[in-house]
Amino acid sequence: MDLFNKCLQFYPIVETAQKAGYYPYFIPLSSEPDRRVSIDGRELIMLGSNNYLGLTTHPKLKQAAIAAIEKYGTGCTGSRFLNGTLDLHVRLERELAEFYRKEDCLVFSTGYQTNLGVLSSLVRKGDVVIADKLDHASIMDGCKMSYGAVLRFVHNDPESFERVLKKLPKDSGKLAVVDGVFSMEGDLSPLDKLLPIAKRHHCRFMVDDAHGVGVMGKHGRGTAEHFGVEDEVDLVMGTFSKSFATIGGYVVGDHKTITFIRHQARSLIFSASIPPPSVATVLAALEIIRTEPQRRERLWKNARRMLAGLKKMGYDTGTSVTPIIPLHIGEDMKTLNFWRALFDGGIFANPVLPPAVPPNRSLIRTSYMATHTDEDMDAALEMFRGVGRQFGLLE
Ligand code: PMP
Repeated sequence: MDLFNKCLQFYPIVETAQKAGYYPYFIPLSSEPDRRVSIDGRELIMLGSNNYLGLTTHPKLKQAAIAAIEKYGTGCTGSRFLNGTLDLHVRLERELAEFYRKEDCLVFSTGYQTNLGVLSSLVRKGDVVIADKLDHASIMDGCKMSYGAVLRFVHNDPESFERVLKKLPKDSGKLAVVDGVFSMEGDLSPLDKLLPIAKRHHCRFMVDDAHGVGVMGKHGRGTAEHFGVEDEVDLVMGTFSKSFATIGGYVVGDHKTITFIRHQARSLIFSASIPPPSVATVLAALEIIRTEPQRRERLWKNARRMLAGLKKMGYDTGTSVTPIIPLHIGEDMKTLNFWRALFDGGIFANPVLPPAVPPNRSLIRTSYMATHTDEDMDAALEMFRGVGRQFGLLE
């Protein structure tokens, strides 16, 4: 049997969708990824990014990236471990640790690699990692790469979490890991309820705050700040590919744990470091996150307006309480048709189908930015009303 047979069988699925005009992936933008984007010469309102603070086009970030290229060149050509650490990486780690009020920080090349490296280095044979059932794929891949046992608890259910912990041997090493903000549902992990349970069972606690940093908390320090539990969380990881407007990942925690990860995480040691323009972009973004709370306020104003507007129309937005607002549709084909109608009407949003969601629970993921204008939101709401009626989702 030819190993490539699976590719031949898979190909018609993609080809049929492309020919029928229902292929929603890898759509090339020919503009900056801003509040409005250009696709095939058409302008669309971008409701499908993770550019929460709208910083990808900010002049200060662009200038910082250009200046870093001028000074340090285009890339580091090696791992942080050997030749790929610049004084700029060290400065970023210091500033992020200070921002989070934690002892230390380690910067990786992506958030995905951060989860792989942190989880696979810390969770060893005989240890247990306990994950929320809806945790991000990068967390689950990190769990798979560890040699520990992997257990799941019912999404956002503290009782289920405790049931899992109770069954574990007292002397096993335990790490719980959750998304702070869940990337498809837009709901929050109840950290204030999970943390006391974890402490009772001597279980360490890690939060993936990819969608929380810059968004949640009075100072933008994320979901733990929002719940007032920053001192209780052992490790926070995040990404630079959302509010920080570039690419990269990081983990913050106590110095000794971060030192261990720094010397053990294979995704850090065997991969090249984040390039100078990205490091400089993050430093500039961090400065804005620290000094311009009005951006976060505007983001929340926009998110609240859209959530209220969509709910009032009659959309099922599930458990969302953040700038990520899903529209639950159900059937896959209906979701794709709905996505296509939005796309034709000038809205860029993302259809989310199984296996990313359970069967018959397909949804359209929308997300909002600090830089969306009232005009953007009025136009989007009008389009949602029209398309929702067309599809019999609204009265
Ligand atoms: N964690 C979560 C919750 C995410 O949503 C993502 C990205 N979608 C990641 C981790 C990975 O981050 P990155 O894009 O930097 O690889």
